[in-house]
Amino acid sequence: MDNLTCIFKEKKLKLTPQRIAVYKFLKSTKKHPSAETIYKSLLSEYPTMSLATVYKALKTLVDVNLVQELNVGEGNFRYDGNTQPHPHIQCIQCGRVDDVEGICFSSLNEKIKDKVNYEVISNQVYFYGICPDCQKKN
Ligand SMILES: [Zn+2]
Ligand SMILES: [Zn+2]
Repeated sequence: MDNLTCIFKEKKLKLTPQRIAVYKFLKSTKKHPSAETIYKSLLSEYPTMSLATVYKALKTLVDVNLVQELNVGEGNFRYDGNTQPHPHIQCIQCGRVDDVEGICFSSLNEKIKDKVNYEVISNQVYFYGICPDCQKKN
């Protein structure tokens, strides 16, 4: 049994070709694609797959925590095959989203405990800026 079969079985998910395709695609990229980008990228290999199917597969994968959904603002959802908490930075000009590596904000959960009555579970840190490509264009 390969790794993916194990993971899906553990989560009690049916291994549909669409779910596998979407999951594998997200695991293979660090670009944090949108559902539309995933759909377009898989179209040549899966010509019968619709955008609605991609959305459904994404929702299932997010529900079982195999994929992370990022809301980078204005209803703009991006998807990440890396479900470990990590900060992101988005380019305000082209919309590109990158990981911020080598820094972890998990200690923030501990820090805000005195400020809120919540049991703090997680946080999402986003930075905004201008990516190297856009800096060159400016
Ligand atoms: Zn950019
Ligand atoms: Zn990421």
